[in-house]
Amino acid sequence: MQHADTLLQTPYVVAGPCSAESPEQVLRCAEELVRGGSIQLFRAGVWKPRTRPGGFEGRGAVALPWLAQVQRLYAVPVCVEVATPEHVSLALEHSITSFWVGARTSSDPFAVEALARAIPTGQGAIFVKNPISPDLELWVGAIERFACHGHTELSAVLRGFYPTEPTPYRNAPLWDVALALRSRLDGVRLLCDPSHIAGQADLVGDIAQRALDLSFDGLFVEVHPDPSLALSDAQQQLTPQAFWHLMAHLHMGRSMPLAADAEEVIQLRETIDRLDARLLDTLAARMETVAKIGDWKSQRNIRSFDGARWRALLRHHTRYAAQLGLRETFVRRLFSLVHGESLRLQGDRRRGATGAEAD
Ligand code: PEP
Ligand code: MN
Repeated sequence: MQHADTLLQTPYVVAGPCSAESPEQVLRCAEELVRGGSIQLFRAGVWKPRTRPGGFEGRGAVALPWLAQVQRLYAVPVCVEVATPEHVSLALEHSITSFWVGARTSSDPFAVEALARAIPTGQGAIFVKNPISPDLELWVGAIERFACHGHTELSAVLRGFYPTEPTPYRNAPLWDVALALRSRLDGVRLLCDPSHIAGQADLVGDIAQRALDLSFDGLFVEVHPDPSLALSDAQQQLTPQAFWHLMAHLHMGRSMPLAADAEEVIQLRETIDRLDARLLDTLAARMETVAKIGDWKSQRNIRSFDGARWRALLRHHTRYAAQLGLRETFVRRLFSLVHGESLRLQGDRRRGATGAEAD
C-alpha cells in the first residue's frame, strides 16, 4: 500500500527541537514552524537518553504542559520520545498521543513490547527509529511488535547507524538497510532523520534530498530557534529559517512513468539484468573454485583463512577497481562479503569431511 503523501508527492514532515528546554523555546519554535508552512507533527524530546551519565537528560515531565500548550495554540500534534510505559502514561495525561521510539530503545524487544502494550491504539502516530546497530531484523521486529498490538499509524525512521568506517557523518546512513526494511513492511511510512545522520547542520540538506531521491516518504528533522544555545545536539539543529529554506528547495521527484514512456530505461534495465546474470554466474564459478581449494586444504589439515592471501587479494582488487572508477569502500565491503561466504563454504566442507556438525 502506498501512503497518500507519496502519491501527492509532498513529503511528510516532523520537525522540532532535539529537546524541550523551556516554555519560551518550544512555543517560539512551534510558532515559527507553523507560521512558515505546514508540518505534520511537532517533535521535542522530554526524556533524553544519554550514552553516558552527566549530560542533559531532558527536562522530564515538567515539559509536558508546555507541549500540551503547543498543541492547543498551534493545532499541531506533538510527539515525544518514550522508553517506558511510565513515559507513555505521563504524556497521555497531557493529551500527547504520538510517540517516537529512539535508537537505543528500538533495539530492546522487552522495552518495545512494553511500549506497544502501553500506547493506546487509534489515537496518534508512532515512529520507530532504527536500532544503533544495523540489525534489520531487530528494526523490523520492533515495528512488527506495534503492528501485533493493533497499531496502524506506523513510521520507520532512518537515523543512521553507529559508524564502523570513516564517514563525514555522525551516523552511517546505510540506505540499503532502510530500503530492505521498506520492502519487508507494507503500509509503513519510511522517514529519514537527516539531523542525527549528519551530526552537523550544513550536511542536513544533502542527506534530506538523498532520502527523497530514494523515495522516502518524508523527514524527521531537528529545528531549534537558536541552535547555538541548544542544550543537546546543538551542531545539527537547523534554525527555522534554514529549515524553511531547505523545504522550499527540496524536490520530491516523480515516480517511474508507465512502461510506454520509459522505453530507454527499459532497455537499460535489460542490460542491467544481463550484467547481473553474469555477475551471478561469476560468483557461482568462484565458489566452485573456492570449494576445490577448500578440499585441498582440508585433506592437508590446513586452516581455511590465509591472512597474507586475503590482504594481497584486497590490495590487488582495490587497485584494479580504482582504475575502473569503482569506490574503494564499496569494493572492500563487496569482497568482505564474498570472502566471508568463501570461508563459510570451506568451513562447511571441512566439517562435512570430518563428520562434524555444521553450524
Ligand atoms: C532524538 O531524536 O533526539 C534522539 C535522541 O534520537 P535517536 O534515538 O535517533 O538518537
Ligand atoms: Mn537529538
